[in-house]
Amino acid sequence: MAKPAKLKLPGRVLEDVVIAAGEPWGRVLEKGDRLRIVDLEGRQAVDFLCYNADNPAERYNAADTMKINGTLWLKKGQKIYSDLGRVLFTLAEDTVGYHDTVAGCCSAESNRVRYAVWPTPNCRDNFLVILSKFGLGKKDIVANINFFMYVPVGPGGALAIKQGKSKPGDYVDLIAETRALAVLSNCPQKYNPASGGNPTPVRVVAWRPSA
Ligand SMILES: [Zn+2]
Repeated sequence: MAKPAKLKLPGRVLEDVVIAAGEPWGRVLEKGDRLRIVDLEGRQAVDFLCYNADNPAERYNAADTMKINGTLWLKKGQKIYSDLGRVLFTLAEDTVGYHDTVAGCCSAESNRVRYAVWPTPNCRDNFLVILSKFGLGKKDIVANINFFMYVPVGPGGALAIKQGKSKPGDYVDLIAETRALAVLSNCPQKYNPASGGNPTPVRVVAWRPSA
């Protein structure tokens, strides 16, 4: 696809890339840096993990993020917590109002169990590819955030992965509240509606407002 138009952002753009459907991405952000993830075509799930870049044993904690924010569904203004009770990122802007914290990432193994297919491209393998570039591996993968993914919880705790609600151009902006490693997998899933059955590219822009 054609490269999207340049964004007018204050400060210096560090990186502006389109991530193809099914590809991973990651980088270290300094405190105060911003990260925008744009769902270019809508209904795309983006699996996301983050770490203290100086001590990756400190990492995103799903349960504490849910408890402290008091919600299963992340939205604007909420904070992403580490397992040491520190804020790794703030969700500063959000045009969707709905991001999943409970469904985790797809894997070849879970796809086999759920959909009787093997092997399949999957987010867990993507995380391993990108984490290996930062010296991390299997033991560093924990329950992740799914930006733009719609996982409603019904009466009695019923859980379902439904088709995403995001529209083309919807985005989230994250502020790094410490020096942080952010990694994502642009989900290749075709066997449930997380990415509308048709995974599509996303755009990732990192910038430094103060520069
Ligand atoms: Zn996935």
